[in-house]
Amino acid sequence: MLTQAAIDARRHLPLAPRGNLIDGRICPAAGGETFDSISPIDGRVLTRLARSGPAEIDAAVAAARRAFDAGTWSRTAPAARKRVLLRWAELIEAEALDLAVLGVRDNGTEIAMAHRGEPLSAAATLRYYAEAVDKVYGEIAPTGPGVLGLIHREPKGVVGAIVPWNFPMMIGAWKLAPALAAGNSLVLKPSEEASLTLLRMAELALEAGLPPGVLNVVTGGAEAGDALARHMDVDILAFTGSGQVGRRLLAASAASNLKPVYLELGGKSPNIVFADAPDLARAAQVSGRTFFRNSGQVCVSAARVLVQEEVRDRFLAELLDVVAALKVGDPLDLGSDAGAVATRRQLDRNLAMVAQAEAEGARCLAGGGQLLAESGGFYMAPTVFDRVTPSMALFRQEVFGPVLSVTTFRDEAEALALANDSVYGLSSAVWTGSLARAHRMIGALQAGVVMVNGSTGSDNTVTLGGVKQSGNGYDKSLHALDKYQNLKAAWIDLGV
Ligand code: NAD
Repeated sequence: MLTQAAIDARRHLPLAPRGNLIDGRICPAAGGETFDSISPIDGRVLTRLARSGPAEIDAAVAAARRAFDAGTWSRTAPAARKRVLLRWAELIEAEALDLAVLGVRDNGTEIAMAHRGEPLSAAATLRYYAEAVDKVYGEIAPTGPGVLGLIHREPKGVVGAIVPWNFPMMIGAWKLAPALAAGNSLVLKPSEEASLTLLRMAELALEAGLPPGVLNVVTGGAEAGDALARHMDVDILAFTGSGQVGRRLLAASAASNLKPVYLELGGKSPNIVFADAPDLARAAQVSGRTFFRNSGQVCVSAARVLVQEEVRDRFLAELLDVVAALKVGDPLDLGSDAGAVATRRQLDRNLAMVAQAEAEGARCLAGGGQLLAESGGFYMAPTVFDRVTPSMALFRQEVFGPVLSVTTFRDEAEALALANDSVYGLSSAVWTGSLARAHRMIGALQAGVVMVNGSTGSDNTVTLGGVKQSGNGYDKSLHALDKYQNLKAAWIDLGV
């Protein structure tokens, strides 16, 4: 159980500077270069990390390739890999509170959510793929009698994984777990804003019995990410982050070895509230509470409320009550509903969007400004804008912060047109009491995810992926294994 005393006992633990984890060893960047890891709780330096570039990426990729070719992981029985991954999950669970507090100090997510959504979610993901991998079979093709056609599943080789600062362990595990279960080696580059938990998680993997070199973690920013994306010996790239960086990765692949690039990108997800919603108050409560968790820094957050004219006033009144009751504060305080925005740069971006929305004529109904500036940390008030129209930046651009936009519609056709009027297609939500309408919307919404009358959807068994400029491929579910496995065809002439 999470208690404030247990959290407080960990909140000021000193943190030694951290090196990369390459070939099972902790090593500094070649030239000894480092960068500061800043805590969004108070803006202070938490520790220093290795500033890596092409030299460190080369060393990590070489280690991953050696490990892959040695076969100490790639050619072991799936059941043997399963044992190591399950042991790893146990070690993560045993350290869950330490990892959660470490992560909150690094990226500002409120502790209850971080505990559940980071170490415990990562462990659950490891368990899911560990349990799956010795139950996924190759195929015997239904060919004619003279030949035997076989489809083998084999690991791709060296996987490059680049992840963002929101939920680093959860999103990291969505890549690591299926890739490792399938027998690949990896080079993981965490975000420069949130590397600490993934470094620790990789150490625990060694303790669990993962052979050295199978999982390497290299810290740094664009320079390290770009070197990984351009590397000629990386077989595939798995990325979660912004569309801007996603484009660069595709260009880097085109300029190097044409490695497949799987992208989980941003969104501007619609949340459509019909007048026939079964419980309007609940719709408002769930919409408000889920949107503002982690200060709006959740990729699938439904940032564009589209509400039907006749229930607009009632819905907004309920929503504003929810927002007024949210407590923004120290993310290590169990009483905080939302913690800090992850970086100063992100806070500035959020505030710039507020200024632009006001300049473009949207009406601010709640929030709009920084909070707790005296703490030195990066806090922002939950913000709601009404009268947002499709021509405004707030309607079109991802903010990735606690800024909710509200637009009114007349009928289902207009709701759908507004919802799909976006370059993104990650998630969506619909509130309706009509089963027929729910199915029509599921069919017509251009999104990888549709949530109906709720905001559930964190289970490993279901895919997460975007359409349009929200990305390609899927994290989670058995489908994620496809990214990390080649299907090799074998033809055996039976001589008959
Ligand atoms: P970001 O794109 O700025 O950074 C992501 C990662 O890319 C970081 O590790 C960063 O160091 C690295 N990077 C930066 N420049 C690079 C370059 N030139 N080459 C290679 N790597 C480079 O994203 P962020 O700010 O960390 O995260 C927020 C974004 O992530 C939002 O757009 C959000 O929607 C998205 N996101 C998507 C999902 C999803 O599942 N679809 C989940 C979480 C976050």
